[in-house]
Amino acid sequence: MRFLTPGPTQLHPRMPEFIQDALSNQIGSISHRSSAFEKIYASMSAGLLKMLGAPDGTHVFLLGSATEAMERLVENCSAKHTFHFVNGAFSERFLQIAQELDRAAVELRVAPGAGFSFDAVAIPKESELICVTHNETSTGVMLDPSDFRALKQRYPKKILAVDIVSSAPYPELPWDVVDAAFFSVQKCFGLPAGLGVLLVNDSCMEKSADILRSGRSVGSYHSFPSLFSSAQKWQTPETPNVLLLYLLGRVIEDFLATDMTQLRRELAERSALLYSFLDQSKTHRAFVTDTKVRSTTVITAEVASASSLLKKLEAQGMQVGSGYGPFKDKHIRIANFPSHSRADIEKVIQLLSAA
Ligand SMILES: *Cc1c(COP(=O)(O)O)cnc(C)c1O
Repeated sequence: MRFLTPGPTQLHPRMPEFIQDALSNQIGSISHRSSAFEKIYASMSAGLLKMLGAPDGTHVFLLGSATEAMERLVENCSAKHTFHFVNGAFSERFLQIAQELDRAAVELRVAPGAGFSFDAVAIPKESELICVTHNETSTGVMLDPSDFRALKQRYPKKILAVDIVSSAPYPELPWDVVDAAFFSVQKCFGLPAGLGVLLVNDSCMEKSADILRSGRSVGSYHSFPSLFSSAQKWQTPETPNVLLLYLLGRVIEDFLATDMTQLRRELAERSALLYSFLDQSKTHRAFVTDTKVRSTTVITAEVASASSLLKKLEAQGMQVGSGYGPFKDKHIRIANFPSHSRADIEKVIQLLSAA
């Protein structure tokens, strides 16, 4: 079976080799206080910053999931007020977490499938943290990260946090205006689930320290100050998933060796194939009509019956995602990640055109 599902998904093609190396190197037995561990963490971090084009001095924290990153950001970067761009289930989750943590959360909500006009939005004075989902996996809307610059220029004091879970390492983020970004490893990195990675700059660290000084809680072992003091030694506050960390480092090394420009171009070309098929199809069509915000990494199609289509594809060895939430039977979502190939996308197109 080939998994073109939006996460978990098809594993990176070299995963058997990486896992074998992990076993040979006894990665599951080494201490998380050993220098072997510190080297794994340090080299993954350096590779990640290089790959994403993030500045030196960006702190790389290891968490359990992307959902945890949302919670940690709300706790450490807002005392009371957050602001959320909401256009689907994952941006909604960020909002809900802020509400559950008793923040006064203000939202700008647009219809599923739509993007935002960043130059027109008015964000309340009190908002401390702005939360944006770069690629809304539930509907297949991808924002243009260069739009974040105009937003931040108007609100330079607010922390800008970007969910890049189902797009990284595709987007070239404007790191001069992005304060925090996070992802989990079961999407574009082609790894088994269970590790979240959060990148934060010093503005986030200062904000967390300010909140703590004011007598409020910023959480416990995964508070930013706690994560930071461990990360200074390339360690973690708790016993982490060393195996996944090692595998992530190997995947990043592989991406860096294959030329990021080329990787991005291939992803864009493959998604263009899918959209041009959908735009010509008589039976299926692209859910996102605004071509400027069509996702490169998660392509969502409106179909007559997702469940029967998924069955047909599965019978041919292809698994794609169903619709998300209310769109469960109305949409299919096709992942286009680095672990997929042009042949995968061509096969999906061929199967869809026959269905
Ligand atoms: C999958 C996903 C998440 C949640 O990731 P977890 O690892 O399950 O916490 C958050 N945001 C987006 C955009 C996602 O696609």
